[in-house]
Amino acid sequence: ATPAATMVGTTIGAQNGVLFKGGDVLERAKDVDTVVFDKTGTLTEGAMELTDVVAVDGEGNAVTDGGDAVADGGAASGESGTSSDRRSDGGELATRERLSGDDVLRLAAAAESGSEHPLARAIVDGAEERGLDVPDAEDFENVPGHGIRATVEGREVLVGNRKLLRDAGVDPTPAAETMERLESEGKTAMLVAADGELVGVVADADTVKENAKDAVAALQDRGTDVMMITGDNERTARAVAEQVGIDPDNVRAEVLPEDKSDAVEAIQSEGRKAMMVGDGVNDAPALAVAHVGTAIGSGTDVAIEAADVTLMRDDPQDVVKAIRISEATLQKIK
Ligand code: ADP
Ligand code: MG
Repeated sequence: ATPAATMVGTTIGAQNGVLFKGGDVLERAKDVDTVVFDKTGTLTEGAMELTDVVAVDGEGNAVTDGGDAVADGGAASGESGTSSDRRSDGGELATRERLSGDDVLRLAAAAESGSEHPLARAIVDGAEERGLDVPDAEDFENVPGHGIRATVEGREVLVGNRKLLRDAGVDPTPAAETMERLESEGKTAMLVAADGELVGVVADADTVKENAKDAVAALQDRGTDVMMITGDNERTARAVAEQVGIDPDNVRAEVLPEDKSDAVEAIQSEGRKAMMVGDGVNDAPALAVAHVGTAIGSGTDVAIEAADVTLMRDDPQDVVKAIRISEATLQKIK
């Protein structure tokens, strides 16, 4: 492109909240044939809320009386009135006994107080909103992409995905049905274990951004393949993909933070020119290797730095705008 065309395109972009880092970026964007969206914070608001708490016994029975009551107002469900007096005077919870939903949430929130992860914040906030007395915890160990481990009231507590429990020798299968039900609703379900025993499941939900579906449709109309990449589990990821109109086959789930850039490289090794759209620190390496890296709105500084394009607004539709500005600018000067 001529310097003049580049300037026009860059200016139009800026007026629309689309910041191109230089003329070569503006030129590359028109060739994008695949857009890869990060899920959390990019297609979704990234504002998690605790939605479900289910106590599970060793046989996989959901023991919480409200276990299948799903709150849609974002309030935690799974109110439990079962076995109210399990505490010995030492404040220790007797093992082998069924915990109540509140006990499960108390343990989970205590452990998650050592994490900054949005999933963790929602659990802590949810416990507080329910007026629970969350005990202190110590010896926090974050396991990136899997969960957290901590000592709560002398017990070793785990909160995280199936792999976190399996690696610690705890069988997650008794909670399989509960997990699958919550995940097929698009929620992120997390297992809670105490002293090597599965005690329950907690779930967080996020809401899809208002314009996500329209943005996906507009890209597909242009003939662009739309994909999604996430650390979240397959079932949750597919449920969210369905909500925004992304083909389930185009979902790459359970991708560890350090593997996101490899996943983008694998997509590009098929000869595709991919635009990666993300918001988080996790996304920075993937933004850097993509044909065009795009940081969205509320994104972290690290993501913005690694990106070629920054979308000032938090609107997925601006992804389409970025590509259209590139096309229009370069067409004019041909
Ligand atoms: P995302 O890319 O969706 O933010 P992460 O890679 O951070 O996901 O985490 C992947 C999965 O690991 C989560 O969906 C969750 O099951 C589990 N996980 C990660 N951190 C935590 C945590 N602090 N507490 C519970 N589970 C966690
Ligand atoms: Mg994200």
